[in-house]
Amino acid sequence: MDYRYLGNSGLKITEITYGNWLTHGSQVENDVAATCVHAALDAGITTFDTADAYANGAAEEVLGKALKDQRRESLEIFTKVYWPVGPKGPNDVGLSRKHIMEGINNSLRRLQMDYVDLYQAHRYDYGTPLEETIQAFADVVRAGKALYIGVSEWNAQQLRDGQALARQAGFSLVSNQPQYSALWRVIEAEVIPASKELGMSQVVWSPMAQGVLSGKYKPGQPAPEGSRATDEKGGKNTISRFMSDEVLNGVQKLQPIADELGLKMSQLAIAWVLQNENVATALVGASRPEQVAENVKASGVKIPAELMARIDDALGGVVERDPAKTASPEDRPA
Ligand code: NDP
Repeated sequence: MDYRYLGNSGLKITEITYGNWLTHGSQVENDVAATCVHAALDAGITTFDTADAYANGAAEEVLGKALKDQRRESLEIFTKVYWPVGPKGPNDVGLSRKHIMEGINNSLRRLQMDYVDLYQAHRYDYGTPLEETIQAFADVVRAGKALYIGVSEWNAQQLRDGQALARQAGFSLVSNQPQYSALWRVIEAEVIPASKELGMSQVVWSPMAQGVLSGKYKPGQPAPEGSRATDEKGGKNTISRFMSDEVLNGVQKLQPIADELGLKMSQLAIAWVLQNENVATALVGASRPEQVAENVKASGVKIPAELMARIDDALGGVVERDPAKTASPEDRPA
């Protein structure tokens, strides 16, 4: 498993991170979740991504329990704050000083840890002055509760404004966590150039487009039993944007390219995001340990330029590239 630096910082993280959105505390049973975490460790993954809002705290609890006996210094733990948690009251959401301070303490308790390596603003909060948010993050860092600070789905201007204030407050934003895959390339036009200028990496989510780029969903056929597209607890809804026959037909055209490289389509999808040098890690999900073992083989793969161009041709018009799709809710979510 190869490591990459996170932004301009000295922190090294595995280029494949195991993330537990929708799975832990929800779609999969706790014993399967723990087996997936151990499969990740066995495969050399040391970086894990979660969030306070995933399964309303349960995902952090499951991850903390599964990692409890590991040497803390050998792990890099990422979590996030912003989306509503707990009873979802007016102050259980957003990036106010109150919610950030309470959020980090609650995350650490659920994870059974003294600090996280990366604490991320899960979206931009239009309801809180940016100065208040950045000052609260500076204080979280000074208290030793998070070692580094990042953001998620911020647009280029928000990254610039946030980084300027962070530097005034004596720290730097090291990363942005956007959606990025061969089907969803909205960060390429604005977010990536701004991030390079600001010394920030991308830690990218849904590199397999939630499993769609593995090729297992066939146009005109029912989704495989037990897959995210059949998960009534939330997965079916979130994956639906990729489930049209047009997209699924485009994805099937990637099979010969994966064959030429001797890769599974899932591995091709993860390797594809890792070809971008501004990407520090692919945040990969898995509902079963066999998926983890398959996915980690994408580390270190080089895709020749000619095949990258063929992937573009194969997907053609089904790729989303509009930079305006990087957006946070204008009103705080309830
Ligand atoms: P992926 O695109 O990696 O999709 C993972 C899902 O695809 C798995 O849960 C599994 O679902 C299926 N899958 C995985 N491996 C294979 C395989 N080899 N063959 C076939 N199917 C496979 O990413 P996610 O959407 O899960 O997101 C990854 C992480 O990104 C999250 O856990 C979270 O940490 C982060 N994230 C961050 C967000 C943000 O707003 N910042 C938003 C969303 C995610 P199944 O078996 O059920 O079909």
